[in-house]
Amino acid sequence: MQTLKNRLITIEDLIRNTEKQFNRPRQSVSLLAVSKTWPASLLRQLAEAGQQRFGENYLQEALTKIKQCADLDLEWHFIGPIQSNKTRDIALHFDWVHTVDRLKIAQRLSNQRPDDLAPLNICIQVNIDDEATKSGIAANALLPLAAEIAQLPHLNLRGLMIIPAKTDNVDQQQASFHKAHVLFEHLSSIYPGIDTLSMGMSGDMTLAIAEGSTMVRVGSALFGQRATTRHEGNVN
Ligand SMILES: *Cc1c(COP(=O)(O)O)cnc(C)c1O
Repeated sequence: MQTLKNRLITIEDLIRNTEKQFNRPRQSVSLLAVSKTWPASLLRQLAEAGQQRFGENYLQEALTKIKQCADLDLEWHFIGPIQSNKTRDIALHFDWVHTVDRLKIAQRLSNQRPDDLAPLNICIQVNIDDEATKSGIAANALLPLAAEIAQLPHLNLRGLMIIPAKTDNVDQQQASFHKAHVLFEHLSSIYPGIDTLSMGMSGDMTLAIAEGSTMVRVGSALFGQRATTRHEGNVN
């Protein structure tokens, strides 16, 4: 059995090799370790091996782990759906949010972000394949929402996040990633601080890197298969 640390090294190697293969600058893609359902002890092992960024979907579970890992210098990314009543804890305890798709949520996050913390880093989630049941705004609503978010004092707009439609058709996946990259380039031509295209997961990370991802969100390839929980149904 490969150890967790070995799997981290394997994934880091894969990212570096894929950057090279597709002429992406070295270190232009970072790894977000998606640790939902996994205990703090495993996050600790990864932190010892140098992993700093962790992504969590479920607020209560995340808050427990953030407390348990308070002695470590970790960066916490919220990547789950956000209801209004969760914004305060997210604004208090996270460094990044990838799943902002409504102005109201962005306003609450900005209002609730404490003055003594750095601005909260924000990616706007785009529903890139126009799926009826998926979170995220429509591609044509991205620029108006970005313009509003860019004005909010305690937020730092960093880019966009997508989850493509589930499909085995590689051409279709590639088209979704490509469309997201075009939007990302457009956004970064307007706002100089835009540097993050959050796309690619365990099953499609190399394709996402080929198409311009700057942050892959990897769970099962790192930690192993998650047990199915009552949560799994709500992951967008
Ligand atoms: C769970 C999750 C991931 C990681 O998925 P894997 O297939 O396990 O790598 C990435 N992004 C989001 C938004 C998730 O909810």
